Amino acid sequence: MRIGELAKRTGCDVETIRFYEKSGLLDEPVRTVSGYREYQGVHLERLQFIRHCRSLQLGLQDIRTLLDLQAKPSAGCEHVNALLDQHIAAIQAQMAALRTLETQLFNLRHKCNKPHSIEECGILQNLADGVVHA
Ligand SMILES: [Zn+2]
Repeated sequence: MRIGELAKRTGCDVETIRFYEKSGLLDEPVRTVSGYREYQGVHLERLQFIRHCRSLQLGLQDIRTLLDLQAKPSAGCEHVNALLDQHIAAIQAQMAALRTLETQLFNLRHKCNKPHSIEECGILQNLADGVVHA
């Protein structure tokens, strides 16, 4: 199949597919005699694997590691588990940071409770004083 069809079947942009090729995550397709890059089922499977990983917010390096592990079917899977554990910990840290951010935004929002002029608005005053309040 051509890159356009691969893009359509995976819901992946053509530019993204090219990027994955340049990054070495996706093998470059062989060219047909007429010079077209002809993608195969293996490319489709690989791209779906990458897309699934990306939907779970796994980084390119993690995906590369998982693909390397996938290529050793008889090896133990402890590295896969360790990688997932690390990713879960990173997501938990992000969630904690987002909760802190949410609290900061609620506190800021409460600086203004009823409509009034901009010059009296506690939100803008707070933002203008440059001090970050937790
Ligand atoms: Zn206000």
